[in-house]
Amino acid sequence: MTTAQAADPIAAHVRSRDFKMLIGGSFVGSADGGVRPVFDPSTGEALTEIPLASSRDVQAAVAAAQEAQPAWEALGVRGRAACFERFGELIRENRERLAMLDAIDCGNPVKAMRIDIDICDAYLDGWPAFAKSLAGDVYPASPGNLHYTAHRPYGVVGRITAFNHPAMFAITRPLPSLITGNTLVMKPSDETSLSTLALAELFDEAFPPGVVNIVTGGAEAGDAIVTHPRIKRLAFTGSVPTGLLIQRRAAESGHVKHVSLELGGKNPMVVFPDVDLDLAVEGAVHGMNLDVCQGQSCGSNSRILVHAKIYDEFVARLAAKLDTYRVGVAYDESTDVGPVVSKAHWERVNGYIESGEREGATLVRGGGRPDGLPRGGHFIDPALFADVTSDMRIGREEIFGPVMSVFRWDDYDAMIAEANGLDLGLTASVWTNDLAIAHKTADALDAGYVWINDSTRHYFGTPFGGSKNSAIGREESKDELLTYLEHKVVHTRLGDARTSLDRLIGRQEGSQEGSTA
Ligand code: NAD
Repeated sequence: MTTAQAADPIAAHVRSRDFKMLIGGSFVGSADGGVRPVFDPSTGEALTEIPLASSRDVQAAVAAAQEAQPAWEALGVRGRAACFERFGELIRENRERLAMLDAIDCGNPVKAMRIDIDICDAYLDGWPAFAKSLAGDVYPASPGNLHYTAHRPYGVVGRITAFNHPAMFAITRPLPSLITGNTLVMKPSDETSLSTLALAELFDEAFPPGVVNIVTGGAEAGDAIVTHPRIKRLAFTGSVPTGLLIQRRAAESGHVKHVSLELGGKNPMVVFPDVDLDLAVEGAVHGMNLDVCQGQSCGSNSRILVHAKIYDEFVARLAAKLDTYRVGVAYDESTDVGPVVSKAHWERVNGYIESGEREGATLVRGGGRPDGLPRGGHFIDPALFADVTSDMRIGREEIFGPVMSVFRWDDYDAMIAEANGLDLGLTASVWTNDLAIAHKTADALDAGYVWINDSTRHYFGTPFGGSKNSAIGREESKDELLTYLEHKVVHTRLGDARTSLDRLIGRQEGSQEGSTA
């Protein structure tokens, strides 16, 4: 069976079924009957429709989540972990279907989306383990007092996600809020909701009704979540402009909210002249996430700062490496780089490529639409620009697509200033065999997640997030777990234990306060 044939039944399945939201354990359309068409980025063809939630649907979802929350909290961490275990089994059983839905709906290569699903195991196991080990603090006693912390869930958490890893985000991002006893209203990106709506069935099977509620839609539904008075804890993954808007709208709701934001990046990869060139070139391509999501990744190393001594050779080898990547239909097994998510995004990325050429960068390779692919697909042959500087748009703005920019440097301090010169600071990587230089540079780079001689990999349990406009808060670690809990300090006045004992059981001969004998 060819891959195209293998994809056909899935496409047929997409066309023939209704995708519904999950609210209070029921599968429903939008209360107002609103829908949004879904297009296949590999062909541009309309495939199906998803519900377009209005604020009425969000109200219903929050009400369901609120009703379900006390029993979910009362289940305790072990009871909740059992639901995670069942959910994990269902994910593994549905791996192929979820990966194929993301390929069809988002355009990411199906082989990469299988890995996305496999990665979820670490989160499904890891969050319950963290939650089971959660403990409060006991503070230094003031005489006759005991001070300790207790944790309580916020209640209903609102979670809004970006388009680029649809199933992985829908599986992993809600987990820390759920394991801590919160219930959830989640909204995936309106561009890529299919796998989340398929996951709704698995959430429904593994969790009690109302614990996980899924609404689909765009800004209207998102805003209704952000401004809802019963949602105090909001977690958002998306662009900087939407993140800023969310902070503003949360404040305008008149309710103080705990908002965490995972936003964009324009991440530097710093290459020193002593590197193994092939390894560094491999790392540059890998770190761009071209063969995962066409470079549509917050952590992509879209600014590569290469020392002048090796610059020409590095660029030549990088171009040759990119030539080996096959651009193609996302659900074709041999595809390395799929189409970008939408026609609008294709136009936006191409606008950047044009601006790079206009502003004086050298287009070394790529940038066009490869031949022999469906005309309506949103394909872009990965573009490699050399001679890029920070005053060019491609050198300073997040493109979120298959465009790599290589900068030349020879002065260390100027290079660090350039790397840190943007208002983004998500990830960075340093490539050198000299440990002292590596750590000095890792320290100098203003970013939340820095790799030395590596790129792109996340390690569950280590805090992921950024500095400056790239983030507020950290995810994927115990630090995040605590952000889904209200912290309460309890002060207990113990009084004088000797006096209490005398009153309760009478004075004992020879007894002494504080004796350990
Ligand atoms: P986006 O900001 O356009 O949309 C993100 C989400 O916000 C979507 O679900 C969207 O429907 C919703 N939304 C839109 N308007 C809203 C509003 N007014 N109120 C509430 N919600 C609203 O981002 P995108 O295009 O989906 O994703 C790309 C961006 O996400 C990039 O900047 C990328 O760097 C960032 N991203 C960051 C991380 C991270 O972990 N730091 C991960 C993935 C993506």
